[in-house]
Amino acid sequence: MEKATIEQFKKLFLEILSEEEVFEGKLSPTSLEGDEVDIVSTEKANQMDFRLQARNAIYMNKVRKSLQKIEEGTFGECEDCGAEITYNRLLARPTADLCIHCKEAEEKEENQLVNKNRASTKIGGRHLPIEHLEKGYQRDETSTSNFHVSHMDYQDIVS
Ligand SMILES: [Zn+2]
Repeated sequence: MEKATIEQFKKLFLEILSEEEVFEGKLSPTSLEGDEVDIVSTEKANQMDFRLQARNAIYMNKVRKSLQKIEEGTFGECEDCGAEITYNRLLARPTADLCIHCKEAEEKEENQLVNKNRASTKIGGRHLPIEHLEKGYQRDETSTSNFHVSHMDYQDIVS
């Protein structure tokens, strides 16, 4: 990656961090005074704040990590395969640490895990161990009638 491009991202990251510091300074202390309605809405607002702040903190860590990578000279390299992450991808997601191929592979893997968990919790409303699913008890997502077959199989397993 060209030095000027790296400088461009460095500037962006530093700007994000300095804006964050201003934002943190502006946060007002939690107010628990007022009537009950006020308290409830304040608590709700605080919960929202908390979630936003948590997400923000994760992002800020990524920004700091990216800055560190710039210092180390590894910014823009895929952490998995070492390939150069494309400029367009970095523009869309400056803190990306995987190239698009590795990211897609990772997401595919995550989706498969999610689907397995979903299938296992749906059957009879009980948790069926994944090993059983892999032995042929997995429900065909495209067929609803198959659910009953799987359910009966499950009854056979537990009885
Ligand atoms: Zn990669």
